Amino acid sequence: MFIAFEGGEGSGKTTQSRLAAIWLRDQGFDVVQTREPGSTKVGMRLRAILLDSAHQGLSARSEALLYAADRAEHVEKVIRPALLRGAMVISDRYVDSSLAYQGAGRELEPQDVAKVNSWATGGLTPDLTVLIDVPPSVGLSRFASPADRIESEPLEFHERVRREFRALAAADPDRYLVVDGLQTQEQVAQAIQDRLREIIPD
Ligand code: C5P
Ligand code: MG
Repeated sequence: MFIAFEGGEGSGKTTQSRLAAIWLRDQGFDVVQTREPGSTKVGMRLRAILLDSAHQGLSARSEALLYAADRAEHVEKVIRPALLRGAMVISDRYVDSSLAYQGAGRELEPQDVAKVNSWATGGLTPDLTVLIDVPPSVGLSRFASPADRIESEPLEFHERVRREFRALAAADPDRYLVVDGLQTQEQVAQAIQDRLREIIPD
C-alpha cells in the first residue's frame, strides 16, 4: 500500500507522515517512510540543485523535469522495491506536489506536468493521498525565515499551490483525505489514523 502526504510549506506533513509511519509500525506493518525530493543518491544532488537560492532563474520546465527525474529515481530505487516486498510506503510529497508547484505555482500546462510525471513514475499512483491543508500565510509563518528557493516565492505563488492541491483532492474524494492543518497535531494525527484504519489490510 502506497500513501502520499501532500501540503504546502509548514503544513505539518513531515511530522504527520512520521507519526503515521510510527502508528502503522505499531500495527505490525513493515513501513518505509520516505520523502521527495532527495531520497536517493542522485536525488540528494537534485534536491540540492532545486532548492539552492543561487538558482533563482531556473526555468520552470527545467524545474519540472528535475523534480520528475528525482521522482523517477525514487520510484525505481525506493518505492517500487518496497511495495514489491509487501511494505507500506509513506512518502512525504509525490506527483501532486509537481502538479501544484510546477503546474499551478509556475503556471506550466497542467496536462504536460501530469504527462511527464506519469512517464517518470510508470503511472504509479498512491492508494491514498493525505492533504494537510493550511493557509500559506499560516504555514509560512511557522518558519523563522524562508529556508529555500521555493519557500521564498511570494504569497500568491503559495496560494495557487494550495488551490491546486485542494482541487486535486476535490476531484477524487475516494483517494484523498483532506485534513485541516490548523487543528492540533494530535487532532490531525487522529484524523489520519481513522482513515488509515479503514483502508489497511486485516
Ligand atoms: O517538503 P520540503 O519542504 O522538504 O520540500 C522541499 C521544497 O521543494 C519545498 O520548498 C517545496 O515547496 C519544493 N517542491 C516544489 N515542487 C515539488 C516538490 C517540492 O517546488 N514538486
Ligand atoms: Mg519546504
